[in-house]
Amino acid sequence: MEFKEFNLHPQVMAGVTAAGYTTPTPIQAQAIPTVMEGRDVMGLAQTGTGKTAAFALPILHRLAQGERGRVRALVIAPTRELAEQINDSFVTLGRQTRLRSVTVYGGVNVNPQIQKLKAGAEIVVACPGRLLDHMAQGTIDLSHLEVLVLDEADQMFDMGFLPDLRRILKQLPPKRQTLLFSATMPIDIRVLAQEILRDPVTVQV
Ligand code: AMP
Repeated sequence: MEFKEFNLHPQVMAGVTAAGYTTPTPIQAQAIPTVMEGRDVMGLAQTGTGKTAAFALPILHRLAQGERGRVRALVIAPTRELAEQINDSFVTLGRQTRLRSVTVYGGVNVNPQIQKLKAGAEIVVACPGRLLDHMAQGTIDLSHLEVLVLDEADQMFDMGFLPDLRRILKQLPPKRQTLLFSATMPIDIRVLAQEILRDPVTVQV
């Protein structure tokens, strides 16, 4: 299988080429067409499998078309390191799209985040605590959200983020595409998945 078979937006395909990817990984081969169809996805995959591009590429494809200046995709991750890695993937793969991605996490000054959000971003990669702060302060507008990704959901659960996640989920537009990635599927993640995914397709590597 080759990347060109996905018929990704040319600006996104340029990012794939620039990143030096030639063949989709198994999780990408399964997830990319499914996400492009608009389906919800439950992804069972560890780090190192190419799971970031498995969601980043179809999200970039969707966002390359349509409106700019509103947050249309939100990725929630357990740690700042992971949030930065995911953001780097969006930046590298999406360079030609000119879409703007912002990271939002605690332990750093909030003002640069507020400035970037104000300037307009289509993609936000966030950790739960600081994201809730922005939501409470009204410094992030998620009313136009189209795609939500929960990455490393089992890790977020282990770190005690489930109550924060539930608080966030309650405030997001219900009409959206949701992707949940987790390396393992403990019962709490299964329950969460049942609550938030609509008729999901399971992809597993
Ligand atoms: P991830 O599992 O998302 O953390 O990705 C692991 C590593 O694989 C990252 O360095 C990616 O840049 C790289 N990668 C992802 N997809 C591909 C691909 N199709 N071909 C080659 N490398 C890839």
